[in-house]
Amino acid sequence: MTAAAGPADRAGSTAVARAGSAEAGAPAATPATVAAVAAPSVAVPPATARPAAVPPVGSPLAAPRLAPPLIAVPRANAAAAAARPVAVLRTTAAYADAARRAHSDRRSVGVVPTMGALHAGHRSLVERAVRECDVVFVTIFVNPTQFGEAADLASYPRTLAEDLEVASRAGAAYVFAPPDSEIYPDGLGTEPLPPGVGELARPLEGASRPGHFDGVATVVPKLLAPAGPCRAYFGEKDYQQLVVVRRLVGALGLPVEVVPCETVREPDGLALSSRNVRLGPDERLAARSLSQALRAGARALASGAGAGQVEAAMRAVLEAEPLVESDYAVLVRADTLCPPEAIDASTPLRLLVAARVGEVRLIDNLDPRRPLPGSPPAVDHDGAAW
Ligand code: AMP
Repeated sequence: MTAAAGPADRAGSTAVARAGSAEAGAPAATPATVAAVAAPSVAVPPATARPAAVPPVGSPLAAPRLAPPLIAVPRANAAAAAARPVAVLRTTAAYADAARRAHSDRRSVGVVPTMGALHAGHRSLVERAVRECDVVFVTIFVNPTQFGEAADLASYPRTLAEDLEVASRAGAAYVFAPPDSEIYPDGLGTEPLPPGVGELARPLEGASRPGHFDGVATVVPKLLAPAGPCRAYFGEKDYQQLVVVRRLVGALGLPVEVVPCETVREPDGLALSSRNVRLGPDERLAARSLSQALRAGARALASGAGAGQVEAAMRAVLEAEPLVESDYAVLVRADTLCPPEAIDASTPLRLLVAARVGEVRLIDNLDPRRPLPGSPPAVDHDGAAW
């Protein structure tokens, strides 16, 4: 037990007593009440987790030095209330402690790193992790060092109370939601990329968002290492990030198996993203052009087109949409992100697009040889298949 975790355990006994009375008498806490007055809203914690109830970090009730790191959050409905509540961890020490307990109980650990504002895409990662692992940690941290534009960071949606509900319903045992000071105790900064990672991090998103992957590669080890040996679930939605993280984990020798998860889309093909909520109605319609461009690229490839024609087919779709400003539309090797030297069956391929739709920058990608989603085709708002 670390010094930091000590007060948490002492506070934990209070939490359980409060939880008992809250469950017996009071109505179930809504996410809002959990966020605002976390301590009185707790439910009985899982036996192995021993979470303690504390005010959220940053609340006037919180005493930063002594703040115990765990908050138990009740599940939303009666049936689920019988199951275990998710517990919120605020410190790396508490996260590592919970993971150590899982390992010592011989339970496998899964981690789903996110920046919150959880949607069905995130949920699919958590649900898969829950199917494949005994104890699942969802991390929620809006990492300042991976944002180039201050405005993008400031406008990034933050919905912790709702996120706790999503994580809990999906079956996660813990949410690790640290304050910035826990991840960057010495101030914001990034680590140099380990050898071999830079070449994957430089093109595409790396070129359009300088410093982005320095931030990603700095935060990911801080979010995975405390879990010890684990499976970590990453979405193919952020394909370059997935490739970078896989290389990073290998370069650092972390005992982590990176598990790629398929992109979840709207029926009209738009990949779910926390940024989609910032699209106006016209922009939302225009945003379909990213997935439509990918389809056009896949069709061109299937009909025998070369790389140049495939990319031209994708660009044509993006450029036909006045609200969309195309950034890149490329066919690359799926493993190195380099232009393919040959387009043959043994070369793994990926189509990637990025574009600004109004003020919102969106990315998407597709394995052109995987059967397209929506078979039978999903139908969009205008009745067209994506
Ligand atoms: P974010 O919160 O945007 O950093 O995303 C957290 C994780 O969820 C990353 O591994 C993403 O690739 C993944 N993710 C985001 N959107 C989707 C989606 N539409 N389908 C599947 N995974 C996603």
